[in-house]
Amino acid sequence: MKESPKIVILGAGMSAVACAENLSDFFQVELYEKSKGFGGRLCSKKYHETRFHLGAQFCTCTDPDFKKLLNKNNAKKFNGPIYNFSKKEDIETHQYFVHPDGMQALVRESSESLDIRAREKCIRVDTQKKIAYFESGLEVSYDILISSLPFPQAHELFEFEESLNINFDPCIAVGLMINSAIKTKYSAYQSVNEDISWAGSSKFYNATIDEKGPQLEIFLNDENFVSGGISNSDPLLMVSVFDENGINTVGNGIGHDIELVIDNNYNKSIILNDYYESDLDTYKSGKIKFELNELSTGEHTLKIKVWDNYNNSSSRELTFIVVEETEIKLSHVLNYPNPFTTKTAFFFEHNQNCDFLDLSIIIYSVTGRVVKRINRRIHNEGFRSEGIFWDGKDDFNERLAKGVYLYNLSITNEQGMKADKTQTMFLLK
Ligand SMILES: Cc1cc2nc3c(=O)[nH]c(=O)nc-3n(C[C@H](O)[C@H](O)[C@H](O)COP(=O)(O)OP(=O)(O)OC[C@H]3O[C@@H](n4cnc5c(N)ncnc54)[C@H](O)[C@@H]3O)c2cc1C
Repeated sequence: MKESPKIVILGAGMSAVACAENLSDFFQVELYEKSKGFGGRLCSKKYHETRFHLGAQFCTCTDPDFKKLLNKNNAKKFNGPIYNFSKKEDIETHQYFVHPDGMQALVRESSESLDIRAREKCIRVDTQKKIAYFESGLEVSYDILISSLPFPQAHELFEFEESLNINFDPCIAVGLMINSAIKTKYSAYQSVNEDISWAGSSKFYNATIDEKGPQLEIFLNDENFVSGGISNSDPLLMVSVFDENGINTVGNGIGHDIELVIDNNYNKSIILNDYYESDLDTYKSGKIKFELNELSTGEHTLKIKVWDNYNNSSSRELTFIVVEETEIKLSHVLNYPNPFTTKTAFFFEHNQNCDFLDLSIIIYSVTGRVVKRINRRIHNEGFRSEGIFWDGKDDFNERLAKGVYLYNLSITNEQGMKADKTQTMFLLK
């Protein structure tokens, strides 16, 4: 049984809940709140998948006891960038906390164990008789009354000895649904102008600590390219980028640019921020396209580094071999799958970019008999062919017997230059 006195707290905002949590270990405490929920000015409203924060957008924390309360209620550290217009600088947000379920959830755990009576609006207090009167007709006696009401509401209930001359700045919070993505690295803006003190996106409130850099895929000329392949001397570098929290394309700190390093020459790295183009209607993904020029013949490496908006970076590297275009080169000739049963596809790499090639594949039995001829005219966007399919049937559309077969794959360019390679494959039944 808890000790007297009986304590009545008016309101169930953050200060009332924190106060009640401390006192209710020892005393009988009842809270009376006029709204249907708790949280007061830590107010958010859910609309479809979006949550509008119409009260406090975040809270700061330096006090260890308050930090305990935030931990207990699963508050998240806000880790995104905020820009302050009047200071013209990014704001340090390490001590900012939010809750993904709405700011009122910062006191959810604490409020669950308390005796909160919702929808009870106090309309009068008789401090002589120690009775609080409520709109519903309820009358509650108390030993100690604590009011957590904001001053204007408290002023209606209690007589203050001196008339206080307090000015209030009205504040209107507006929730806006914006359909298309706004490309910005900031989650929120402070002191936007004289009228708007804050503008933030819902992304801010879903903030979890992002420690992963962007996902990168890197190719030369087309998406079939694989590292180690061959290229001409002016290949097009293509990078696909994705990050849940957006890509940093403005380099907000030293070394946070999209950076390309060729052949480990870090002193002559190239900044590719301006070559990034976001995909339609999203800030999360995009492409970088950059043409390299006059690379020397031989092996090269490319290393690209990209940052997200939460200061995480990722790097990807590829190697390739530049081959003189006056010479026609064929490499990595293979068929997949191999062995195969009903179908296989032939692949190869070459150094003839954006050219027509005449392709010939001649398939032989092990005794040297020609069983199938495949002839195609192909146009190349890159240096790695698309798969050329074969169904395992001969020139008369008959299935071939199982066994080992050889094939000679040759390409001839428009100038009549030719290259070829012979490989082995296994047909299983
Ligand atoms: C738009 C906005 C933005 C803000 N931004 C920030 C911010 O960025 N960071 C920050 O730290 N703070 C911010 N604040 C301030 C912060 O929200 C408040 O300081 C804090 O929530 C106050 O908590 P409280 O418990 O003292 O009062 P309240 O949350 O106001 O709680 C008082 C409670 O009393 C109830 N009540 C009122 N009258 C009666 C009655 N007659 N009978 C019964 N119950 C009654 C109310 O319904 C309410 O639940 C912001 C506030 C607003 C409105």
